[in-house]
Amino acid sequence: MTDAARTLHTLTLGQRPVGRTALRARWIVGHAQGGHRLLENAEVVIEGQRVLYVGPAFPGEVARRIDLGEVLVSPGFVDLDALSDIDTTLLTVDYGPGWAKGRVWPQSYLDRGPYEMYAPEELDFQKRFAFAQLLRNGITTALPIASLFYRAWGETVAEFEAAAAAAGELGLRVWLGPAYRSGGIVCTAPGKLEPQFDEARGMQGLDDALAFADRIAGSFDGLVQPMLAPDRVETCTLPLLRRTMAASAERGLPVRLHMAQGRMERKTVEALHGTTAPRWLAANGLLNDRLIAPHAVEATPEDLQLYADHGVTIAHCPLVYARDGEMLRSFRKCRDLGIRIGMGTDTAPPDMVLNMAVGLMMGRAAEGGAAGLSTAEIFDAATIGGADALGRPDLGRLAPGSLADIAIFDLSDPGFAPTIDPIQTLVFGATGRVTGAVFVDGRLSMCDGKVAGMDIDAARRQVQRQFEGLLAKYPDRTWGHPALDTLFPPTYPPGLMESDMESA
Ligand SMILES: [Zn+2]
Repeated sequence: MTDAARTLHTLTLGQRPVGRTALRARWIVGHAQGGHRLLENAEVVIEGQRVLYVGPAFPGEVARRIDLGEVLVSPGFVDLDALSDIDTTLLTVDYGPGWAKGRVWPQSYLDRGPYEMYAPEELDFQKRFAFAQLLRNGITTALPIASLFYRAWGETVAEFEAAAAAAGELGLRVWLGPAYRSGGIVCTAPGKLEPQFDEARGMQGLDDALAFADRIAGSFDGLVQPMLAPDRVETCTLPLLRRTMAASAERGLPVRLHMAQGRMERKTVEALHGTTAPRWLAANGLLNDRLIAPHAVEATPEDLQLYADHGVTIAHCPLVYARDGEMLRSFRKCRDLGIRIGMGTDTAPPDMVLNMAVGLMMGRAAEGGAAGLSTAEIFDAATIGGADALGRPDLGRLAPGSLADIAIFDLSDPGFAPTIDPIQTLVFGATGRVTGAVFVDGRLSMCDGKVAGMDIDAARRQVQRQFEGLLAKYPDRTWGHPALDTLFPPTYPPGLMESDMESA
């Protein structure tokens, strides 16, 4: 058991403690005068859903005072592209090309009628599992993302009703919106990828998403908020994006749209619209400060200037790109242009600390030195940057009046010795597994790896079973329908050891 967990045993998992709770800690990241401030041997007092006080010993009365010891009390992370399904990027990074490995629908699969890879109850379960993983990594606000490659078309309202309930029950703050699209990329011959569109289907998806948004806004004590989530830009038509942005303006909803994020997207958008995605949107008046755009790794200098001019936020997910040898070029250039940067996990492990570590290294590599990015800048992106993208100054920072969304990191981990600065220690340590406890909306949502109402070990086994069910369907939806054992060859060739052969 971690230090944080030991000291929090008097609180009930999943519950908001009654009365004021003072959390005393070696280190606290507070917020004052427009930025994070580091406090040593200080207290955070929470009352109800909110933070009442941050500073040296609180002079007022409290119902309980908990000395957390050698921990860092931090604002919980805001994850703008939060992994919410069973991760499938592991099926792409080491195996390619995508069209030959089931990552692009073959025409034969489209003709037979695409189908859901998962049963409805499996979709519900995997979101619940993913939400638990986010909490276990100190993420308190999430904008879920999942791949549509494995869906009949878009995400469904039914699964998002279930996701809202899961977030409410587990105690995770979410912005939810089922992903919709008017088209998809189809493999019509080996290596030949073509977009195909169904405008009516896209519009129906948007209508359903808007009805859902109106219904769930502010539910579960405000824990669940709506967003609009059109899928990747190359799968959206101009009318769909126009209506999306008009509805977003009317309702004040954030919109997340993947663009300037992949080579296939760049080629497809160039072929369809004769330009880059950001320039296409800008030319149609569709870039604005409600737009959150993962991942910008393919953005041109002109694209980035357009983001800066229109207040677009980049959702920066360094881990998933670093694995592919790609990176944002660069964090420094974006910040110098005045572009807001928030962060996302996007892949497994959904670990924001690891993403900060990789982001720091890649940001410095991109600029050829440590001046490329500071530890404070990457920590700001994972907290303040995401909160500001959502227009929520009461998230991403700990100050009187802010919501009590708190992550507690154990600094007593032996792997963290020695230490000179707690933020540097956390980021260099590069693992969210030191997350001892998490409060969301004043509730103790995670403690010692546990979340309310879930057996994590049993859940892990179920994830693997569901993933194997997905794999079994792979040949059916891969060009040429190759046998499963040829799709994903092992890291090393399978073989016997000499001693095995002797005994055989
Ligand atoms: Zn993404």
